[in-house]
Amino acid sequence: MSNAIEVRGLLKSYGEVHAVRGVNLSVAEGEIFGFLGPNGAGKTTTIEILEGFRDRTGGDVRVLGQDPATAPLSWREDIGIVLQESEIETELTALEAVRMQAAYFSEPRNADEVLELVGLDDARDHRAGKLSGGQKRRLDLAMALVGDPKLVFLDEPTTGFDPTARRESWDMISNLRDLGHTVLLTTHYMDEAQQLADRIAVIAEGRIVAEGTADQLADLVSSKPRITWTHSGEGAAVPSRFDAVSEGTKMVIETTDVVTVLHELTNWAVDNKAEALLDDLEITRPTLEETYLKLTATDAENPEANA
Ligand code: ATP
Repeated sequence: MSNAIEVRGLLKSYGEVHAVRGVNLSVAEGEIFGFLGPNGAGKTTTIEILEGFRDRTGGDVRVLGQDPATAPLSWREDIGIVLQESEIETELTALEAVRMQAAYFSEPRNADEVLELVGLDDARDHRAGKLSGGQKRRLDLAMALVGDPKLVFLDEPTTGFDPTARRESWDMISNLRDLGHTVLLTTHYMDEAQQLADRIAVIAEGRIVAEGTADQLADLVSSKPRITWTHSGEGAAVPSRFDAVSEGTKMVIETTDVVTVLHELTNWAVDNKAEALLDDLEITRPTLEETYLKLTATDAENPEANA
């Protein structure tokens, strides 16, 4: 599989501000790639360079095989961009807006089909200015998809959504992968990235501090699955060989070998008639949010670590 995006040693300075300091990225065709990082980390700068809207100070960039700085106009037809702020004329109906956008492309998708794809078929005759926030974001996506782009840039697609609208959007974004689009997703919601992204890159202070699947990122910061239960003052204590430590009201065992440790722990409890001690036993896996906080904290404390 070839790469839709290939970035090597990307640099961007605004005068004395070194916003991007040697970024390397590879996004495979057909994947949803999550691009995460704290405010001011360099995400927008990197993405605008990839989109061809910003020049770079140095480095090599290929997007769909072309350098965005010199790519021909036809290259732009293969790229769909969904910005945070909608720029759609409010008096147009959803269908009119998508049809008007379609006119810019040599081989657009059918406007009705695209509205159906984003779940706006019932609102096709509603004016853009009267759509709800969630519907507007769907229309933004429809506008980006009508040109049938190979690569879609999605910038914080569910900011301000209620939980139901967010879930619906996640289904819609997953569909894009099924339809063969490559998606570069920026988001500040870690659950969104965990749910949607095949792979993730985390940028902090202009450098990529980690790249991989959510599980690979968790391994990088040694986040292990946790077996927990509530402290009990009564009954037998768990033997020291389990390495259980106390954290607030909980006892915690961190292990990569959950099944074996759980087996030994529950066997011990049954043998010692101490089942009640482990009454609310739980296994939790590291969330992307925990991993992300560790990754970005490490970089802030030691900015040269990933140079
Ligand atoms: P956010 O999550 O807040 O959107 P970001 O990761 O997208 O942040 P960028 O917008 O790329 O971050 O900014 C990276 C750094 O470059 C910041 O220090 C920012 O102040 C600086 N910067 C961005 N654009 C310019 C500009 N046009 N002129 C000067 N400095 C800029």
